[in-house]
Amino acid sequence: MLRRNEPPRVIKLKSPREINLMRDAGRLVAQALDRVTQLAVPGATTAELDAAVAEIFREQGATPLFLGVPSTVKGKPPFPAVICASVNQQVVHGIPNRKPLKEGDVLSIDTGCRLNGWCGDAAVTLGIGTVSPEASKLLEVTQQTLDLAIRAMGRARYWSEVASLMEKFVKSQGMYVVEKFVGHGIGQTMHEEPQVPNFVSKELRKKDIRLEPGVVLAVEPMVALGTKDVKTLDDGWTVETKDRRASAHFEHTIAMTPDGPRVLTYLND
Ligand code: MG
Repeated sequence: MLRRNEPPRVIKLKSPREINLMRDAGRLVAQALDRVTQLAVPGATTAELDAAVAEIFREQGATPLFLGVPSTVKGKPPFPAVICASVNQQVVHGIPNRKPLKEGDVLSIDTGCRLNGWCGDAAVTLGIGTVSPEASKLLEVTQQTLDLAIRAMGRARYWSEVASLMEKFVKSQGMYVVEKFVGHGIGQTMHEEPQVPNFVSKELRKKDIRLEPGVVLAVEPMVALGTKDVKTLDDGWTVETKDRRASAHFEHTIAMTPDGPRVLTYLND
């Protein structure tokens, strides 16, 4: 039961026309991440990657979604960049800097933009040069977790069925789903109802998400090698694993359509 004055927690369904507009924003995000993938070599800095993405958005008349987002930690500054760049033990929300990337680093890049009023949001994790077999497996498992979620969205009626498969797969690989952060609905704003966890909880079972045409979700598994426990650093943003072992993060913006899930942040159709 909603309390009076509390806004109704409803999922805004998008029309086919609106989903096409979101595809334009999502394609631009994919192009930005593709550029980052080419630039992320040993010796490059995450500040350079940030500048490259800012330039791509500017050229296309898109607004970056992350720049200026207020911190949820009291007294901390808003997010200062266009991409989140999270290296090794950093899970999400890392701030780009001028430190050169090293051979063997694991780099997660997350970015989003608004184009013609509609948003796209996606993330990818890259190995810098050659990474350890363990890191390589982490990247593979996290990417596979997102891929299996996309496939499962084509046959599941409710999100909890998908989340359960994601969680079971990660566990079966001896890794951990980070639970502190979740995916989200997306549309004219980056964060809309509902919350989209990568695991099953009592809350999700009580308030499950029906996967009907028009639902658009940013699905973003975060997987860690050694623990699901994370902490936020003093900068008010960077989230790290407590055991300081590596983690990875992949994300796509996905629309449910009468023909099944449509990934709006793929580079090509
Ligand atoms: Mg997101």
